Amino acid sequence: MATRGGPGGRWPTAAPQRKPLSGLPSLDGPALAAWHALCEALDRLDGPTACQVHPDAHRLWLAEPGDEVAQQRAADGCAACPARQACLDFALAVPERFGVWGGVLPRERAKRLQAEEQAAKEARREGVESEFVA
Ligand code: SF4
Repeated sequence: MATRGGPGGRWPTAAPQRKPLSGLPSLDGPALAAWHALCEALDRLDGPTACQVHPDAHRLWLAEPGDEVAQQRAADGCAACPARQACLDFALAVPERFGVWGGVLPRERAKRLQAEEQAAKEARREGVESEFVA
């Protein structure tokens, strides 16, 4: 189905749609840039993505939280997708907490975001400390 994409429909990744579905938060900054990058990556494809054409796409890519068997099947379906990195970048930029994006399960994305947040906090703290030392 043309408008069901990445992650099964919450954000349509199909090229014709070109923007998030109405009723969703508007995008700006890095999330908007990531959205455009994802659309461009999808434009370069010769055909639809696995999440657009798999007969069980909705059940797998939008599996209930905790259903990691289904989520892993979706992730396996992402393995050969040429838009994979752009798809993951977008999900991390939003950040999208639901669904499988770029072959990465929600739990794994949450861990990555947490690690990035922690690293940013430490960098800020080190910056503040070095101001006092100088
Ligand atoms: S990486 Fe996976 S979720 Fe993203 S567009 Fe490709 S098949 Fe869909």
